[in-house]
Amino acid sequence: NLYLKKIEIQGFKSFAERTSINFDQKITAIVGPNGSGKSNIADALRWVLGEQSIRNLRGNKMEDVIFSGTEKKKPLGFAEVTIIFDNTDNFIPLEYSEISISRRMYRSGESEFFINKSPCRLKDIKELFADTGIGKEGYSIIGQGKIEDIISSHPENRRLIFEEAAGIVKYKLNKQDAIRK
Ligand code: ATP
Ligand code: MG
Repeated sequence: NLYLKKIEIQGFKSFAERTSINFDQKITAIVGPNGSGKSNIADALRWVLGEQSIRNLRGNKMEDVIFSGTEKKKPLGFAEVTIIFDNTDNFIPLEYSEISISRRMYRSGESEFFINKSPCRLKDIKELFADTGIGKEGYSIIGQGKIEDIISSHPENRRLIFEEAAGIVKYKLNKQDAIRK
């Protein structure tokens, strides 16, 4: 069992201050008034897992994920999100009991990714989580309206969901790579 222990958000959307949220092994509910940033937390999770489509992050341009300032606070220069998974049972085949994934993006637009604080490519993160059900294409983040999507989507899209559940996505990724080379 791999579980998300913590998310740390800094400079992402409405989170100007460094904010850290601990998740319980059971259920963590986040409540707050409209516009207080609940959905921004789900966006942060998608973003750190590699979401490249700003539409899926409810923005117009990638810069929109960086805190844009308020009356009292200046805009920030970069956004950074880190998530920490418990890996004590080595569910992810890495010799670490904790795995952190970070993404940082400056206004110039370039994103940096890190696994346990070491710089890596987005591809490395995708590979790490392929077929775990975690990832931006996984069924681990289910947004508003997503259930309806799954029920009504094209058979090809639905097939992808089953392929990830069945654990064959990583082989497809490798195959795509091999064909490209
Ligand atoms: P609801 O209950 O209506 O779904 P919510 O708690 O999910 O609300 P969010 O959608 O997470 O709210 O947050 C929206 C808020 O985030 C808005 O006030 C918006 O101004 C703010 N916001 C979004 N992007 C940025 C940004 N780049 N900089 C500063 N604030 C931002
Ligand atoms: Mg919301």
